[in-house]
Amino acid sequence: MSKRVAVVTGANKGIGLEVVRVLCSQFEGDVYLTARDRERGQQAVQKLQQQQLRPLFHHLDLNDRQSIKKLRDFMAQTYGGIDVLINNAGIAFKVADTTPFGTQAEVTLATNFFGTRDVCTELLPIIKPQGRVVNVSSDSGSSALRNCSQELQKKFRSTDITEEELVELMKKFVNDAKGGEHTQQGWASTAYGVSKIGVTVLSRIHARMLSKERPADGILLNACCPGWVKTDMAGPNAPGTVEEGAVTPVYLALLPAGAAGPHGEFVVNKTVQKW
Ligand code: NAP
Repeated sequence: MSKRVAVVTGANKGIGLEVVRVLCSQFEGDVYLTARDRERGQQAVQKLQQQQLRPLFHHLDLNDRQSIKKLRDFMAQTYGGIDVLINNAGIAFKVADTTPFGTQAEVTLATNFFGTRDVCTELLPIIKPQGRVVNVSSDSGSSALRNCSQELQKKFRSTDITEEELVELMKKFVNDAKGGEHTQQGWASTAYGVSKIGVTVLSRIHARMLSKERPADGILLNACCPGWVKTDMAGPNAPGTVEEGAVTPVYLALLPAGAAGPHGEFVVNKTVQKW
C-alpha cells in the first residue's frame, strides 16, 4: 500500500500554515504544504523545519488549472492518490478597499469558489478510500445566506441542488454585481460571503455525490469555519489565534478510520451547524 499523504492549499501562512504544522506531528504520513508562490512556500517549509518538522512542498495555484493537474498527477504517481485534502486557500478584499464591487465579486469568486471547485474537480477522483476532505468556508457564508432573498436561500439550502446549478448561480452573482444589480436580484452585498455560500453548498453537493458514487469508500467531506482568528486576512483585531483556527480543520482531517460522520456538514468549533 502507498504511503499516506495530506495536502493543504494556501499553506504558506495563516491558518493553512498552522494546519500543516499540526498535521506534521499528528498525521501519520507525508504532509504537503502547497502555495501559489514557490518562494513563499519554500520559506514556510524552512520555518517549520527549524521546529524539527518535515513538511514537503508542492506548487499549487488555485487560479491555474495546469498547476492543479500537475499536483494531481504527482500525487497519483507518488502516493496512489490523496488521503487528506484541506482546501484552505482563500482571499478577501479589505473593507476599506475601493475596488468596484463588481470587480471584487469577480476576483473573490475566481479564487474562493471557482478555484476551490477546480481543485475538487481534479483531486476528488483521486481521494483514497477512508479519505478526508475539508473545505475551509466561513460563518460569513452563513450570514450572507440569511441576507439573501427567500428564493435564493431556498435554492442554497436545497438538498438536491446540482453542481451545475450552483455554478450558474455563482456566475449570476458576478454578472449581477458587475451590472450593479446584485441587491435587486436578491443577493447579500458581500462578495466574500457569497463566495463562501458557494464553498459550503459545493461541499454539501460533493458529499452527496461521494455517498452515491463511492458508498463503500467511507470518505468524509465537510465544510467548516475556522473561527475569526488573527491572520493577514482577518487582521490583528480578530479575537482568536491561528492555533485556535486550525482546531476544527484538523479535527475534520483526522476523523478516525471507520467514522460515519460528520459528512456533508458545515462545522464550527467541532460542532455541526444548521445550514
Ligand atoms: P491568509 O493568512 O490571508 O492566508 C490565505 C492563504 O491562501 C495564503 O497562503 C495565500 O497565499 C493563499 N492563496 C490565496 N489565493 C491563492 C491561490 N490562488 N492559490 C493558492 N493559494 C492562494 O488567510 P487565513 O485567514 O489564513 O485564511 C485561510 C482560510 O480561512 C481562507 O479560506 C479564509 O477565507 C478562511 N477563514 C478565515 C477566517 C479568519 O478569521 N482568519 C475566518 C473564516 C474563514 P499568498 O500568501 O500567496 O497570498
